[in-house]
Amino acid sequence: MTDSHTCLQQVLQALDLDLRAHEGTDLTIRAPRDGVVLASLASHTPEQAQAVVECAHRAYLDWRSVPAPVRGELVRRLGGLLRRHKAALGELVSLEAGKIASEGQGEVQEMIDICDFAVGLSRQLHGLTIASERPGHRMMETWHPMGVVGIISAFNFPVAVWSWNAALALVCGNAIVWKPSEKTPLAAIACQHLLQRAIAEFEQERPGTVPEGLSQLLIGGRDVGAVLAASTRVAVLSATGSVRMGRQVAVKVAERLGRAILELGGNNAMIVTPTADLELAARAITFAAVGTAGQRCTTLRRLIVHASVADALLARLERIYRSIAVGDPLQAGTLVGPLIDRAAFDAMQRALEQARAEGGQVLGGERVREDLGAHAWYVRPALVHMPRQSAVMERETFAPILYVVRYGGGTDEAIALQNAVPQGLSSAIFTASLGDAERFMSAAGSDCGIANVNIGTSGAEIGGAFGGEKETGGGRESGSDAWKGYMRRATNTINYSGALPLAQGVRFDV
Ligand code: NAD
Repeated sequence: MTDSHTCLQQVLQALDLDLRAHEGTDLTIRAPRDGVVLASLASHTPEQAQAVVECAHRAYLDWRSVPAPVRGELVRRLGGLLRRHKAALGELVSLEAGKIASEGQGEVQEMIDICDFAVGLSRQLHGLTIASERPGHRMMETWHPMGVVGIISAFNFPVAVWSWNAALALVCGNAIVWKPSEKTPLAAIACQHLLQRAIAEFEQERPGTVPEGLSQLLIGGRDVGAVLAASTRVAVLSATGSVRMGRQVAVKVAERLGRAILELGGNNAMIVTPTADLELAARAITFAAVGTAGQRCTTLRRLIVHASVADALLARLERIYRSIAVGDPLQAGTLVGPLIDRAAFDAMQRALEQARAEGGQVLGGERVREDLGAHAWYVRPALVHMPRQSAVMERETFAPILYVVRYGGGTDEAIALQNAVPQGLSSAIFTASLGDAERFMSAAGSDCGIANVNIGTSGAEIGGAFGGEKETGGGRESGSDAWKGYMRRATNTINYSGALPLAQGVRFDV
């Protein structure tokens, strides 16, 4: 296996990226695949972060007046550069976050897709025209940019989450400031570099259109992210990460009555009913539960299976679990790469211990492939048979643990179990019953932001709005009308009557 440092040099060369300007001693970045130190970087101080936000605000004051389709042209160029550099950027994601190669590439494809979406959107930022009760009047709504959009992102989607926010925020006329995870800043530096190149290309054709500081990057940990949460200059804060982070950030944004888009942890379940296609279900369960080594917000963590099909399904799953290839994420054939770090491994072991104490029978979960590096944390995905849905199942452990519980009654019992956790991101049902599928998607069904039928909980497309309810935070990003989160709505009433009639028949004669 090629040493990660060598891989990094190749990637940097392909991206024409020099890290020297970012070097320092504040952050040590390791490649999860072999534990090799990739880089040591300098962090921004909170004071520097505040200055960056001020600069972005000045950029917004100019960018807001650039016509939206012209703003879309910048995002189109970013999409073009991402297409050209998909292989290198995808490999960097795999190196830094430990994703298998096709998932690293897939993440960049998601960036390309959202750029395409945002370019179309740049000609579609439309409001309604509304019937007025007054003669000779017209009402309409107009959508305007908000200001600076702060983006705080998690390690597990180190580039896609930024692009969901950045592509929409930019076409909507905002400036952006990004604080990526302190575990994955290199991929962020690469994205910022590509956007700067897109800006340089764009400026050649339209000199003076893009203001200085339109897109900026902040390297650092929580203290740097906290500046974005507290600054009144940050009109929208989009924060992706754990529920713990969301609680801290949400309070800060609420204190100043700012707008937050929160994309927090999930605790996703799948229901398998007696009529399900078990072959299809087993494949979907495996991808959703072990893909990205269980480190997706949409990872399947709870399987709620009808007792009449449980033995057959679990026999299949156990067979698949025994044969899953765990290893170097850059090697062809690997399905499960490493955990991000030792802390993730320790958290997984603690959860498995608790599961055992609550009566669970654990298959797998042990450390494997120690030969790949003392600082590389690979595990065999764990399948845990639980006697009931107990405390350990109510929280998200960011690792490949799939808890299985059986239900014996109707689909309502399964839906109640599914909804009985604090999080509400993604959910799925496998069934051939139209009634069960419809019930699951109805108002009395799944309480999640994503409710799928005969497909797993993970792997969303960018066309739909992405996000979840309850402790997941309620935010929506990506497709559908998520763009409205990055704009403010003005209601306009226009009087062309020559008279001044008042609404609700009020008389005020002066
Ligand atoms: P994390 O909460 O540890 O960190 C996420 C980001 O928040 C990092 O950039 C971090 O520096 C920053 N941060 C943490 N505390 C902060 C504070 N008090 N103020 C400002 N910034 C702060 O999460 P992680 O371990 O990087 O990622 C895993 C978590 O993210 C999981 O819970 C996962 O479900 C969640 N996630 C959710 C989504 C979603 O769309 N719902 C997507 C990806 C990941």
